[in-house]
Formats: sequence, structure tokens, C-alpha cells
Amino acid sequence: MGGLRIRVRGQVQGVGFRPFIWQLARRFGITGEVLNDPEGVLIHACGADLGGFVSAITSDAPPLARVDAVETAPHLFDDAPTTFEITASQGSGAETRVTPDAATCPDCLADIRGSDPRRAGYAFTNCTHCGPRFTILHGLPYDRAKTTMGVFEMCADCAAEYTDPADRRFHAQPVACAVCGPQLWLDHGEDVIARAAERLLAGEILAIKGLGGFHLCCDATNAEAIATLRTRKHRPTKPLALMGRWEEIAAHATPSPEEHAALSSSAAPIVLLAHQRSLPDALAPGQDRLGWMLPYTPLHHLLLDAVQRPLVMTSGNLSGEPQVIGNDEAMEKLGGFADGILSHNRDIARRLDDSVMQVTKHGPMILRRARGMVPDTLPLPPGFEDTPQVVAFGAHLKSAICLVKNGQALLSHHLGDLDDPLTWDEFVKADADYAALFDHHPEVFACDLHPGYRSSQHAAARAGAALVEVQHHHAHLAACLAENGWPLEGGAVAGIILDGLGLGSDGTIWGGEVLLGDYAGFTRAAHLMPAPLPGGDMASREPWRNLLARLDQAALSDVADTMLADAPRDVLRQAMAKGVNAPISSSAGRLFDAFAALMGFAGAQSFEGEAAMQLEAMAWRSVAAAGDPYPFSETDGVIDLAPMWEAAVADLRQGTDKSHMALRFHCGLAHACAAIARRLVIAGDAKAVALSGGCFQNALLLDLTVSALGDVPVLLHTKVPANDGGLALGQALIAATTDPRDR
Ligand code: ZN
Ligand code: ZN
Ligand code: FE
Repeated sequence: MGGLRIRVRGQVQGVGFRPFIWQLARRFGITGEVLNDPEGVLIHACGADLGGFVSAITSDAPPLARVDAVETAPHLFDDAPTTFEITASQGSGAETRVTPDAATCPDCLADIRGSDPRRAGYAFTNCTHCGPRFTILHGLPYDRAKTTMGVFEMCADCAAEYTDPADRRFHAQPVACAVCGPQLWLDHGEDVIARAAERLLAGEILAIKGLGGFHLCCDATNAEAIATLRTRKHRPTKPLALMGRWEEIAAHATPSPEEHAALSSSAAPIVLLAHQRSLPDALAPGQDRLGWMLPYTPLHHLLLDAVQRPLVMTSGNLSGEPQVIGNDEAMEKLGGFADGILSHNRDIARRLDDSVMQVTKHGPMILRRARGMVPDTLPLPPGFEDTPQVVAFGAHLKSAICLVKNGQALLSHHLGDLDDPLTWDEFVKADADYAALFDHHPEVFACDLHPGYRSSQHAAARAGAALVEVQHHHAHLAACLAENGWPLEGGAVAGIILDGLGLGSDGTIWGGEVLLGDYAGFTRAAHLMPAPLPGGDMASREPWRNLLARLDQAALSDVADTMLADAPRDVLRQAMAKGVNAPISSSAGRLFDAFAALMGFAGAQSFEGEAAMQLEAMAWRSVAAAGDPYPFSETDGVIDLAPMWEAAVADLRQGTDKSHMALRFHCGLAHACAAIARRLVIAGDAKAVALSGGCFQNALLLDLTVSALGDVPVLLHTKVPANDGGLALGQALIAATTDPRDR
């Protein structure tokens, strides 16, 4: 009997693919079987409408699936099958892959708002198309026993759903209902949601257990509650994320179709949307945008339905520490911040922060890759098919690990600042954990050139001989190439890398570079004129220190004397003159800080990037007027900043509108870097221009740079952060191309 052997590749395991195929077979009158194997899903099919069946595999695929390829070949059945069956998985190492956590689907939302007592109002409702995945996983293979749902025995009704291929809960590992599943609590008593809503509406702060950790939550329309939260959490200005249903979002923001798509993706990330000033400024002082996310678990939906207004949902942690995930830990650490703790008895196996995105004129951009986005893999560019297994350990402040295997890269979730001891523990655990999950046995190890990073020290300790130390900004360039699928032999690219701080190949600190190169190597084609960082680390916290150094360098010391009259200028000038605790850096990030200080940013930043974000917000307010760029002059690859400072000080003296000055600054920097990169492309030295580094999270700078580049091909970050969260991907590919004799 003639039929087809159909191979489906992609993200097709753990997403309800086999029951989907089973249902399709019924629809098209197909008999045969479907099963999982190490390559994906395999189908043996016979019937009259095989063509319709095959095309529906792609067109009707379940929401969480990603079909990369459907390959067909003739198949001979000994006897024509009379039924269509889901048969046992085949092949050793047929690891059932785990997919990212997914926001509650519309059907489950209807269930919790419906009348079936098993699911109505039930905060742990989920199905094959939604629910917790990575955050409840202890280990592979992904089945219930290896998750934090293992301790809950399914009731007969849930078991029936779980075993019925026609049911949308068929093989949904976390399946549960009010009879058998986890339960909520808030102090003592029943009606948890109603009481939580009442207390939030009364202005209380609650700690709430979410998918990847606890949040601290309060009424986002209540300025007093926000002030209390900020005081208790010692978080004076860092923006607070909001959660709202479409009703709440529409009342306070106007998302574009692209922003709408980002918000409603199964990852349900925080998306930065223009602030229309209908909510308290204290949510994000000095910023023009607010971070919004949709409710992504049934618990969130039930709460939002009950309060019908936006809620602050900020990560529940002590300052600088990772988010709290355990119930006892929540009592101990969040008890002092929160008036009550809304929790439950389903454990969180993996800590995952909320992911953060923005949509620029050039598409979506991921700022923090975490819940809902991991453990997804990225295919490696052409030429990397046979690379060895590599692990790369990233940087220091926004650390993340990258594993390369079988032509795929797995970039870990955002881990955070390795100076924090608990984050450091997380980092070491994540290294072992991802390696175990992906059966990873690295032959090559990669880290940053900076020997002081704890990630570099960890790499050196693990690696022995096969360690590749990668220059920081080269890694940024390679990360951008990699996510754009730039082939290994694709030729050299001009990389405009505008960043915070990274150790350069010459021993000074870099951060404002135009590099020329590819995965295999680079030269430093141009850079911003280096300036001292007076006070070392203090210069990253206090923008005025950079203003002093740069005004002095531009022969504008008199301006510094007036503007920074109360600052300890003499001490710092002596230190800079002697080179004491004043390392030299071409950092673009510190240049942004200096300019923000010129525009009036005083004192210390209370979070990384605060001054630069305010400067960007300021510049956007003038963007309609189009800015005349400040002059940045370039000589032999060194971009001199003195003409810019002179022009800016002249503007300041004339009383020019500060938002216009901020715009002129952005334009000047964009034009200067774009001109150099464009020249490299036109001369034939580079085939395209790549934009990377933390400063390119600045959507205005990105847009102005792309415009200034004109018609040359441009590569941007969309899938991997432009900041150090994406660095490990670049490190891994550079290490993979390094000759074994040089490792
Ligand atoms: Zn669902
Ligand atoms: Zn049940
Ligand atoms: Fe960086």
C-alpha cells in the first residue's frame, strides 16, 4: 500500500504537535501513525487527500509550534492501516525538548471566566497551547514527574483530558484543576482573589508569586501607594513595570500594530510604550515611556478582572539581588516591603525575570531576554554547521551564557550583575544547569578579555587550555552578525559599536568604536577621542565627573568651574593629571552621561543608564524640528569631541532649548560614526554596517544612525540584546572560528 513518510522539523515537540496531527488525520481521512523522534516529528500516512493533509501541517500548526521544514518521501505500508495512532517515541536520545513559558491562551482564559467549577476562577488553568514550561522544569525529559507539578496527582477528570488526543489538554504536563491542582493563599481565609483586589484597591502593597518569581504589586493609579513602594524598596527613580489588560492599556497608551503584536506574543514581555501622562509620573520619573505587559497567567487575569485598573508589577527582590522565588524566602525578604503575600503551593523551579522589549522604527528589539524567550535556540549562520561545542560566558553586569551545539546557539536568560553574591551563585548554577539540559560537552570556552570579570575567571577555571578571550566590542559585532545570519565567509563588515565600557586590545578601556572585521578578526578603524574616567567606577555612577573631564579636555575648564562650582574639581583634576584612578576610555556611554550632566543631570544615577535615558527622552521632544548635528571632527580615525562641546556650550549660553541641544548631540554622534562606516563600505573594505553595543538600545540614536548611513546595507539587533546580554553569542562564534592551535 503506497503512502507518505512525512518528516516535520522545528519546534514541534512539547507543543501539542502529535494530537494536532492526529486531529488533522481525522479531518482529511488519513490513516497511519505519528511519533516523536530525535529529529522532530515523524508521520506515516496513507489516504486520498495526502496533499491537503501535508499543506495543513504548516498552515494550521498549533500556536506554540514553529515548523521549519516538512519533508515527504514515498512510504510503503505492508498492510494499509485502518486507524491513525499516536505511537511511542523512537530512537535513543529522543530528548523531548522543553519550550518557553507561554501566556494563558484565549481558550483557557474563557475557561477561567466560565462556569465549569473545575476551571472557573482557577488560577492554575493551562493547556497544550499555554502555561508554565521552563519555570517548572527540574530536568529532561520534559514530563510531569520532572516538573514542580509532579507532587500533584491528577484527578480522574484531568487524567481523562491528559490521555484524550481530541482534548486540548492531551499531554499538557502541568494540567490541573480546582479539584487536584495547586491552591492560592493570602494570609488566612477563602476568596483569595477578592480579598487581594480589595487590599490593592485600598492602597496596600502585595507580594505576588508569578511564573518566574515574585512581584511586588500595587495600584498603578495610586500615587501614594507607588511612593510607599519606592520608599520601602529603596528604589527612588528606576521605572516600575505595569500590568494591564487591553482595556487598561488602551486607556493609557496607544500601541502601534507592532507593539500590539509584541505585547500579545506568547512570551508576553514588558513592552515600552509612550507615556501619555494619565498615570502618575512617579512610575518612571524623567522618562517618556512606561513598560507594559499583559496578564500572562490565570492568576494575573483573575486579579486584573477584579481590580479593573493597571497594577505595578515590579520584581520582588532586595536591591541588586535576584528575584525571590521561594515561599519562605518571600516571607523573609519581602515581608518588610509588602503588606501581604499572595502565594501558592506550586514551586518555581527556575527564576526568570520578565523579558523587556521595545519597538523602534526598524522593528522589535529585545532589551532583556528572559521569561517566555528561553530556552529558544537560534540557528547559526551558514558556515558554522560543523563547529565544535562551545560555551561562552559573557560579560559582567548583564551576564548571560551561550551554548553552541549542532548548528544551534542557545543564549541563556538574563542573569544580571555578577558583583551580587546571589547572582553569582545563579550564574554558576545556570552554567551547570544549561549544560545538563542540553547534554552539552564543550570543547571550546570563551570569555571576555577583561581578567577582572567573574565570568572570565569562571571560564579560565573551567577551560584549561581551550580558552578564547574575546575583545568586548568584537564580540558585540559578532553577536550582531550572528543574529542576522551573516555567513562565516560573508566578508568584513563595519561595526559601529557604541557601548559602556569594555577592555580594548591596547589595554585601555573602549566603548565608542568603528571596527572593521568579521568573526575571525577585526581592526579598530576609528574611535571616539579617549577621556579619563575620574574616580574609576565612580565615573559610571556620577555623570558630572565625565562632564568635568571632557570640558577640561576641550579647553572649556572655565565652563566646568561655573557649572560644577560645588564639586571637588581640584582633587579630581590632580588625580587626572597624575593618572591616579582615572583610566582612559573612548566610551560612548560615558559621553552620553557627560552630555546629560551638561543638560542638568545632577548627582548620582540610581540605576544604570538613567542619565542617558533621560537625555534620549529629552531629545525625542524636539525630534519633529530636525536637529542640526553638532560637529564631531575626525582625524586619522580619532573622532575629536572638542568642536561638539564648544558648539553645545555656545548653545547653552544663548539659552537654546535643551531638548533641541539633546537632539543635536544625538545627530552629531550618529552622523560622525555613520560617515566613517559608510566610507568603509563605499571603499569596498566592508560589505555592510552592523550596529551594536548598549547605546543602540537608544531608539533615537539607532534611527538617526540608520538614516545617516543612507543606502548601505545595515545589520541591527532584533532577537538578541544590543547590550551585554547578547555578548556571549558573539563570543561563542568568534571562539568557534579560532584555530585550535591559537586557543
Ligand atoms: Zn491554554
Ligand atoms: Zn484535576
Ligand atoms: Fe558592552
